[in-house]
Amino acid sequence: MKRSKKILILCHCLLNANAKIFPLATCGGVYRQVTQKYIEDGVGLIQLPCPETGYLGLNRWGMTRDQYDHLHFREFCREILKPIMYQIKAYVAAEYEIIGVIGMDGSPNCGISRTCTGFIGGEICSQVDIARQQELLVDASGPGVFMEIFAEMLASEKISLRFSAVDEEQAV
Ligand code: SF4
Repeated sequence: MKRSKKILILCHCLLNANAKIFPLATCGGVYRQVTQKYIEDGVGLIQLPCPETGYLGLNRWGMTRDQYDHLHFREFCREILKPIMYQIKAYVAAEYEIIGVIGMDGSPNCGISRTCTGFIGGEICSQVDIARQQELLVDASGPGVFMEIFAEMLASEKISLRFSAVDEEQAV
C-alpha cells in the first residue's frame, strides 16, 4: 500500500489560477512553488471550490470583503463547503492526517491572516470618484469570508486544522 494517508487542503486557485479575476494570476495554472514539495512528499491534495467563480462567474469585478460579506453569499459558501466537509470527516474518521489548509492572503474570500476591505458603493462611471474608491481599498488583518466560514464549519465538527496562506501577489 503506497498511500501516504496525508492530505493537504488548498484554496481552488492554487491548483487552477484560471479562476482568479482578470488580470490577477502569477502562473498559468498550478502554483508549482507552493505545491511541488507536497507532491514530492506524496501528500494528497484536496481542492476547495472557488466561491467567487461559483457565485459570480469569470466576468466578475475585483471586490472587497465588505461586498462579499452578505447573508446570501455566506449561505452559498456553506452549501459549497458541505461536500468538502463530508470528505474531511471521512478522512478524519479513517485516521488520515490532514496537515493543513492553505489559502490566499489578500483575497476577500480566501485570505487567512490578511484580506482586503473598502467600499464606497455605486456604479463605476464618471460620477463616481474612482480615485477615492481605490484609496479606500486596504489590506486588513483577518480572514476572508469563505475561509472564515470554513473555519467555523470545522470548529462545529471539533476538527482543528492549521491554516496558512501564500501571498496573493507573490505566489507562483
Ligand atoms: S482566492 Fe479564493 S475566491 Fe479568489 S480566485 Fe482563489 S479560490 Fe477563488
